[in-house]
Amino acid sequence: MPKRPLSKRLQRLLNAQRSSRKRRRPASRRESTTVMEYQGLPVKVRRQKRRSLMMRRTYHAIEVFIPHWLHKDHNDVRAFIEEGLAKLDDLPPLPQREEITTPDELRAMVREWAVRMGVQPKRITLRAMTRKWGSCSSRDNVTLNTALCYVPRRLAEYVIVHELAHLIELNHGPKFKALMDAYLPDWREREKEINTYPV
Ligand SMILES: [Zn+2]
Repeated sequence: MPKRPLSKRLQRLLNAQRSSRKRRRPASRRESTTVMEYQGLPVKVRRQKRRSLMMRRTYHAIEVFIPHWLHKDHNDVRAFIEEGLAKLDDLPPLPQREEITTPDELRAMVREWAVRMGVQPKRITLRAMTRKWGSCSSRDNVTLNTALCYVPRRLAEYVIVHELAHLIELNHGPKFKALMDAYLPDWREREKEINTYPV
C-alpha cells in the first residue's frame, strides 16, 4: 500500500509530542551517577553535560565524569579509568577493605538504632548523593548517602541517629537536640568530625 502523507492534525500532534519530550529531557539528564567497583576500588561514574572525560580522586573514592552520550561500560571509558588508576599510585591510600562499612551493615545499623529509639522508618534507601549525608522525608523514608560506607563507622552512626531522630522531631530545635543528647551524648563532636569529610 502506498504511504499516505500524514494528516496535518496528526503531524502537529507528533511535533508537539516530540518537542515536549525534548523540553523535558535536560532536567532528568542533567547528571546521573553510577557507583562501580574497579580493582576493588569504588568508582563513581557521573554522566554530565560535558565533552571530555575527567577523573578525580576524593578521599574515599574515584570520580569519573563522562559526557551523556557515552555509556559507563564503553571501552573508551574503561581504558580511561584503567589509565587513570595507574597514575593514582603515588597518592595516599584509599580506606582499607576492613575500614569500609558495607551497605548491608549500614542498613543493619539503621534497624538496630530504630529499635533502640522506638521509631519505624518505612523505607531505607542508600544512594550516591552529592550534597548531603542523609535525609529524611515527611513520609518517614530515610535516605543515606553511600559515601557513608567510607567514613569511620561512628560518624555513619551519627548520621543514622540524626536522621532517625527526625522521625520524632522534624526540625533541629531543642527537642531534637535533647533526643540527640539522650541517644548519642557525643553527637556534637561526631557532627564536627563528619563535616571535615567532603560529601
Ligand atoms: Zn537534620
